[in-house]
Amino acid sequence: MTDRFELIVVGAGPCGIAVGAAARRAGLSCALFDKGCITSSIVDYPYYMTFFSTAVMLEVGDVPFTIPDQKPTRREALAYYRRVVEHWDIDVRQYEKVVGIEGAEGDFMVRTAKSDGTTHEYGAGAVVVATGGFQAPNFLGVPGEDLPKVRHYYREPYPYFDQDVLVVGAGNSAVESALEMFRNGARVTLVHFLDTIDRGVKPWVVPDITNRLERGEIPVYWKHRVAEIRPKSVLLRSEEDGATTEIANDFVVAMTGWRSDHSQLASLGVSIDEETGIPSHDPGTMRTDVPGLYIAGVIAAGHNANKIFIENGREHGGLIVADRLGRGTPAD
Ligand SMILES: Cc1cc2nc3c(=O)[nH]c(=O)nc-3n(C[C@H](O)[C@H](O)[C@H](O)COP(=O)(O)OP(=O)(O)OC[C@H]3O[C@@H](n4cnc5c(N)ncnc54)[C@H](O)[C@@H]3O)c2cc1C
Repeated sequence: MTDRFELIVVGAGPCGIAVGAAARRAGLSCALFDKGCITSSIVDYPYYMTFFSTAVMLEVGDVPFTIPDQKPTRREALAYYRRVVEHWDIDVRQYEKVVGIEGAEGDFMVRTAKSDGTTHEYGAGAVVVATGGFQAPNFLGVPGEDLPKVRHYYREPYPYFDQDVLVVGAGNSAVESALEMFRNGARVTLVHFLDTIDRGVKPWVVPDITNRLERGEIPVYWKHRVAEIRPKSVLLRSEEDGATTEIANDFVVAMTGWRSDHSQLASLGVSIDEETGIPSHDPGTMRTDVPGLYIAGVIAAGHNANKIFIENGREHGGLIVADRLGRGTPAD
C-alpha cells in the first residue's frame, strides 16, 4: 500500500522545515524528503562561518533560537533546526531522494530512491518543492576547471597552508574564505571581473578585506577573469585590454555562487522565466501555475539567490498551509 500524505515537501532545508512545522501546527499530514540529511546545505557551509542574520530572524515554527550572541554560528544553526524538527515531530525521510513527481492536485505520486538502491512511491494531495539554491556551482567554464585543485565549495583554511591560492569572486564567500586562508598561512590572491568588492559584503568584514587588499597583503586582480587553469599556474585575462598574466598557483577556490535546479519543476509543466529563472508562482500562496504544486524557500528566487534566504523564505510555509486549508484540505 502506498503511504499517503496531504502534503509532501521535497527538501528539508530551513524553508522545507518551516513548511513541515506549519503543516504540523495545522494538523495536515506531511512528510519531508531529503536526498541528504536535514539542513544539508548548512552542513556544507564553511565550518567556522557566522550567519549575517540574527538568531531571531532565522527562527522557524515559533521555536525560540536562543544563543549568547546576536548572530549564530553554523554549528548553532545546525543544532537549532534539528531541535525544530524534534519539537514539531516533523516526519523527515533523510537520504531519500525525490526522483519523480507525477499526477495532479489531490492525487500526486512522488517517487523516491534510497541510498540502498530501493525505490518507493508515496501519494500526496499537494507537493512543495523546497530544493534550495545550492544544487550546482556556477562554473567558470574555462580549460582546467576539472583539475582536482579547483574547489567550488570552501570548508576550512587548513589544507591551504603555505600554498598559492587564487580566490575567484568578491562576494561574502570569496572575501571570508580569502581572509580565513590568509590568516592561516596561505598566499592568497583575489581575482574579480569588476573593480570592487560586492556591495552585499557584510559591513563588519569590509574594513578588514579593504585593508588587506590596499596593503597588498592579499594581491588583487580587479577587472580580470580566469582564462585557463594549469597544474601549477593560472592564466588571468584583463577585461580592459585582453592582456594575460600567468601567476603561480596550487589551488583555485572559485566562490562564484551556486544555482537552483529547476528541471523537476519544468518537467511538471511549471513555467520558468528565461531571464530571471523564477518559477511562475503567486507570492501570496507560493502556488505555481501547476495546480497543487508549490515552491518554498530560495528556489523561488530564480538565478538571484540573494533575494530569498532563510529570513524571508521561512514565511513560505505559513502561506502554503493557509492556502491548502483555504481550499478545504481536510485536516487529519
Ligand atoms: C555561506 C552562506 C551564508 C548564509 N548566511 C545566511 C544568513 O545569515 N541568513 C539567511 O537568511 N540566509 C543565509 N544564507 C542563505 C541560506 O542558507 C539559504 O537561503 C537557505 O539554505 C535556503 O533554504 P532552503 O530550505 O530554501 O534550501 P536549502 O537549505 O538549500 O535546502 C534544500 C534541501 O533540498 C534537498 N534536495 C535537493 N534536491 C532534492 C531532491 N531531488 N530530493 C530530496 N531532497 C532534495 C537538499 O539536499 C537540501 O537539503 C547563507 C548561505 C550561504 C551559502
